[in-house]
Amino acid sequence: MSKKVLIFSAPSGSGKSTIVGHILKIYKESMEFSVSATSRKPRGQEKNGREYFFVTPSAFRKLIGEDAFVEYEEVYEDHFYGTLKSEVERIWDAGHTIVFDVDVKGGINLKKYFGDKALSVFIQAPSVEALRERLIKRGTDTPEAIEERVEKAAVEITYAPAFDYVLINDDLQTAFAEIEQVVSSFLSEHDETTHP
Ligand code: ADP
Ligand code: 5GP
Repeated sequence: MSKKVLIFSAPSGSGKSTIVGHILKIYKESMEFSVSATSRKPRGQEKNGREYFFVTPSAFRKLIGEDAFVEYEEVYEDHFYGTLKSEVERIWDAGHTIVFDVDVKGGINLKKYFGDKALSVFIQAPSVEALRERLIKRGTDTPEAIEERVEKAAVEITYAPAFDYVLINDDLQTAFAEIEQVVSSFLSEHDETTHP
């Protein structure tokens, strides 16, 4: 069983949760989310070990010193997020494919780390206007937050060429069919590094 990784990144509102949820439903026996560590406080119903491993900023720094991370970012002061090497080992030891749902910067760093073992996918709404409409319809953000996300998206989209595959999420059923095809062909690729 070869060790594989799927990385999904997207500007907020592009449909990443919807598309990743669809893939995980299809492959529920053989794929697993990597749970990141963070030094931010839990929100709402979030549970330690489920959404994140919640640690203090000093515990996070200690983990950095121990080289415990594949990659990490300090998004702003004392707010760290990172992918634990122990999570990667745990999921691979179980014989499962790892699924990452991270921001654009994290996605690019993970692809650099995993190389050919990884398929990195950038999910993009068909236009900035469509993205804004989806965020308005979703109803989870204030008008100011929506404008901030739209502005950030314009910058993030410039990184799309750094990904292996760019999925334009226009009609959802078409996007589902396209991603199913791309993931399935990646999973069936012969892995030269583990089967010489
Ligand atoms: P993200 O995880 O990238 O922030 P979501 O998956 O939450 O995005 O999608 C944002 C909103 O757009 C949600 O309300 C979702 O139901 C809707 N949506 C997702 N894909 C499409 C699509 N192809 N067409 C129209 N609406 C969509
Ligand atoms: P939130 O605080 O809303 O849960 O997440 C904030 C941001 O951190 C999101 O963009 C999310 O994708 C990103 N993130 C979550 N886990 C990781 C990680 O392990 N590494 C990196 N680089 N970013 C992460």
